[in-house]
Amino acid sequence: QLLVKSYRSFDDKQWPRRPSQANITSMRILLVEDDSSLAEGLKAALIREGYVVNHVNNGRMALAAVAAEEPDMMVLDLGLPDIDGLEVLSTLRDKGVRTPVLVLTARGELDDKIIGLDRGADDYLSKPFDMKELAARLRAIERRLSTAASSVIRIGEVELDVAAHAISVAGESVDMPRREYMLLKTLMESSGQVLTREALEARLYSWGEEVSSNALEVHIHHLRKKLPD
Ligand code: CA
Repeated sequence: QLLVKSYRSFDDKQWPRRPSQANITSMRILLVEDDSSLAEGLKAALIREGYVVNHVNNGRMALAAVAAEEPDMMVLDLGLPDIDGLEVLSTLRDKGVRTPVLVLTARGELDDKIIGLDRGADDYLSKPFDMKELAARLRAIERRLSTAASSVIRIGEVELDVAAHAISVAGESVDMPRREYMLLKTLMESSGQVLTREALEARLYSWGEEVSSNALEVHIHHLRKKLPD
């Protein structure tokens, strides 16, 4: 029932093979930022950190994107051209969306920071900021998420530890490149459901990311070799 095609996987080589290594992520980030050069830089940097990043440049599109599929985390600029970022945040929280949100504010907008935190932001950064700082803040949010989530999914002999990003089959640990890990996690979280190719693509790839036509088949093929029948 794996309706799948496959993808370019150049960055799998950089994916840490050992679960103990730092900077492992399989998170999807929605980046809401109207400054296009800043957004491009952030997106490239976050993709290098291993995140799947989707970018929108206004509040309306942010709300639509979250309604279509909730991201794992959001980076939200407050000064947006249509709906104010704080308004976007309030709307999401009113709808019960609990996705962690890191708010970006212009320098000196202290009131905005306070209001943002009051309205359910998880953290904030003032512009200009260092990309390393943003990456560290996101990792901190991610660690809080992992400890909050039930951390082990078990199906038959296959066990996936979400917090440790570790896979074992019949008690033996199995090394897995990043996309394979994300694919397996998605399949295990959706056990019993049929996933469309589009749904898998949305989990594994950023919007606009170049994907070769046979990459998903390749990942599935590799997964099958590592897993029991
Ligand atoms: Ca802005």
